Amino acid sequence: MNRYTAPVRDMKFALYDVVGAEALYAKLGYAHATRDLLDAVMDEAAKFTETVLAPLNESGDEHGCAFDPASGDVATPPGFKAAYDQFVDGGWPGLTGPETMGGQDLPESFGAALKEMLDAANLSWSNYSLLSHGAIEALKHHGEDWQKEVFLKAIVEGRWTGTMCLTEPHCGSDLGLLKTKAEPVADGKYAITGTKIFITGGEHDLTDNIIHLVLARLPDAPAGTKGISLFIVPKLRTARDGSIGERNTVRCGSIEEKMGIHGSVTCVMNFDGAEGYLIGQANKGLNAMFTMMNTARLAVGLQGLALIDRAYQNALAYARDRLQMRSLSGAKFPDKPADPLIVHPDIRRMLLTCKALGEGSRMLALHAATLVDVLERTTDEKERKDADILLGFVTPIVKAMLTEWGNECTYHALQVFGGHGYVREWGMEQLARDARITTIYEGTTQIQALDLLGRKTLQLQGAGLQQFLQMIAAFCSEHATNPAMTEFILPLAEHAKLWGEVTMEVGRKAVANADEVGAASVDYLFFSGYVSLAYWWAKAVAAADRDGQPADLRTAKRETARFFFARILPRTQSHVAAMRSGAANLLDLDAALFDS
Ligand SMILES: Cc1cc2nc3c(=O)[nH]c(=O)nc-3n(C[C@H](O)[C@H](O)[C@H](O)COP(=O)(O)OP(=O)(O)OC[C@H]3O[C@@H](n4cnc5c(N)ncnc54)[C@H](O)[C@@H]3O)c2cc1C
Repeated sequence: MNRYTAPVRDMKFALYDVVGAEALYAKLGYAHATRDLLDAVMDEAAKFTETVLAPLNESGDEHGCAFDPASGDVATPPGFKAAYDQFVDGGWPGLTGPETMGGQDLPESFGAALKEMLDAANLSWSNYSLLSHGAIEALKHHGEDWQKEVFLKAIVEGRWTGTMCLTEPHCGSDLGLLKTKAEPVADGKYAITGTKIFITGGEHDLTDNIIHLVLARLPDAPAGTKGISLFIVPKLRTARDGSIGERNTVRCGSIEEKMGIHGSVTCVMNFDGAEGYLIGQANKGLNAMFTMMNTARLAVGLQGLALIDRAYQNALAYARDRLQMRSLSGAKFPDKPADPLIVHPDIRRMLLTCKALGEGSRMLALHAATLVDVLERTTDEKERKDADILLGFVTPIVKAMLTEWGNECTYHALQVFGGHGYVREWGMEQLARDARITTIYEGTTQIQALDLLGRKTLQLQGAGLQQFLQMIAAFCSEHATNPAMTEFILPLAEHAKLWGEVTMEVGRKAVANADEVGAASVDYLFFSGYVSLAYWWAKAVAAADRDGQPADLRTAKRETARFFFARILPRTQSHVAAMRSGAANLLDLDAALFDS
């Protein structure tokens, strides 16, 4: 049995003590988001995820979703609908949604902590609300008033769910290739025709109506990404006054059999002249979709973090309990037939890797989410612009690295169980299977890496990186005379310097050969991920050292930070060496000779 306990203490530490969310919420005018209220909501969320969602995780994996080819209907696994109804009754879908639309208007960063709980408890189940959250953002920022009133309100209240329909059979990472057509018809409506594949939550039995946000091309649209528009296509025809008509001509054609997230349905969706409405401006659909994608990218990063934490919790309990072999330095539990696994150094390496990457990721992700709060609320134009640039820079790091680490850590945690991790009984293989998709959907690791190095760094003359480096410099100078911080500050400052240097080096090489960007990008992403965590781990030590923090937390944070700096941060060296080796060793071998 695989268990989950929401890490409420560490979430509060990361959000309030390290990231400083309480002061930020007050500054941004979230007057109703008092600490008492937030603590009570967090405790309730912990209870809901532990007792309602977590028990459905393994059964959802076993049952999967069922497709009826005759009707095109999809049944989610047993218990999913009842849990969704409870979720809606508790007002959870609208936690961070606008108050005017029936939401509670709580900060996004607070919502991110709760999202981690939903994902860890049951990733498949939580995928149904993930895309609703993206749809909320797209409608909030780009929808017309009536679209907000009709569609946004229903999604915020959880009565309807949203989807994101981008991918087509021939068009995945490269959205410029998409072919789905949108023809204007009467009354400002459009007829949408085409096939979308891999659509999460495209059909299900949790809500009556499903609101598809679909990328398609108008008849006179220019080729490529400049000719893409975004449309709302409801499963049930929905008029401007909110009245519901008959079934729209959009239908699930089949569902995918897949490696993991069996309870989360992945659909082929056929649009056959389906009635839809334009959202935002014609041919500017990608802008509107990016609003949705950025939210979804942070959210998928949280999925990686969630799986690290759940895998770690179970591996830790097992390592304390399972007796195998003696400690090399002599029996630690001589009264028992053998010592528990946790005495062995390499078991500790795997557990500490999960702990360091997991807790580090939490700080990184929550900080990114506070930038969303700043964007939503600040009235200071410079602060808004800076937050926008920094959020753009850290989003690909959060999406790609938390999911890469999610894969790494679910494998470590499975290994701690030995053969018992490989068989189904303990639920560890499910976590590893479920984690695998997270580096693929919402833009693969490679696409995030190109976004980070190409668009967000080189094209913007390093504006986001400069902000991050300034945060590091300010922190290092604040603690420059504190001997208790020297062991963290010195390597952090060295890595910050190196971050600037390698960026310049790749940028110079890219001027002569653009392939240098693609050749360096994934190593650059990983390097950036580790240096970002070094910053957050140093911040965690400083926060844990403050008066009033419990002694166990202080010691645990310092020792975990030491592990991170000694055993994980040095991974940066191999990434730097790979980047510096350039593109030639990847491109010089003729493609025809790969099988020679
Ligand atoms: C379970 C599941 C759920 C999904 N949910 C949704 C959904 O709800 N809505 C939706 O629209 N889509 C969804 N997708 C689709 C998903 O977003 C795509 O699979 C993903 O974007 C990659 O596209 P692709 O599979 O066509 O791979 P491709 O784009 O063909 O890429 C293949 C490989 O090439 C790499 N690659 C491509 N271009 C480059 C480059 N320039 N440099 C280096 N490497 C490159 C990629 O990283 C990848 O490793 C889902 C997919 C799955 C499997």
